Amino acid sequence: MAFAAPLERLIEQLRRLPGIGAKSAQRLAFHVLKMSSEEARALAAAVVDVKETIRLCGTCFNITDTDPCLVCSDTARDRSGLCVVEEPHNMVAIEKSGSFRGLYHVLHGSIAPLRGLGPDDLKIAPLLERLRDGSVKEVILATNPNVEGEATAVYLSRLLKPLGLRVTRIALGLPVGSELEYADEVTVGKSFEGRREL
Ligand SMILES: [Zn+2]
Repeated sequence: MAFAAPLERLIEQLRRLPGIGAKSAQRLAFHVLKMSSEEARALAAAVVDVKETIRLCGTCFNITDTDPCLVCSDTARDRSGLCVVEEPHNMVAIEKSGSFRGLYHVLHGSIAPLRGLGPDDLKIAPLLERLRDGSVKEVILATNPNVEGEATAVYLSRLLKPLGLRVTRIALGLPVGSELEYADEVTVGKSFEGRREL
């Protein structure tokens, strides 16, 4: 026997979320059913809102609801340092560590030939465009310390060094194969202090 159609529809939608199996979807759907109308409306509104108001910063490609984002428009930040990360959540991890006060550039991925991802699939062209006016003096490559992140850092350093910039790589005191987002704040801080010239 199936549940009433609207309930089946909700279960079906929830099942599409990552990590949610049939049982979890059912449990969540029944939880929604018990919510007050206000709570249910707030949940639905938050889902719609995130899609309608959140976009990418036109400068750094961070996820934002203002363009330029709060980091790019913060005049107190050091505009001579630019930290390159793979994903927006990597930027959040670095910000939490408080170890960097410059600007960022989010690539939205890494070079991964096995998954068919090349330099053209990343935000590399706009990165080069940003560096043109010469205000950035150091580019810190903070891609993940795994094979793909390393390959991306090597590719970028070959591209950027001829421009006369100081190109550094965060110290790999981070466990190899790990991701920045799982490193604690102290480790992220140390990896910035110990960054090396490429
Ligand atoms: Zn930005």
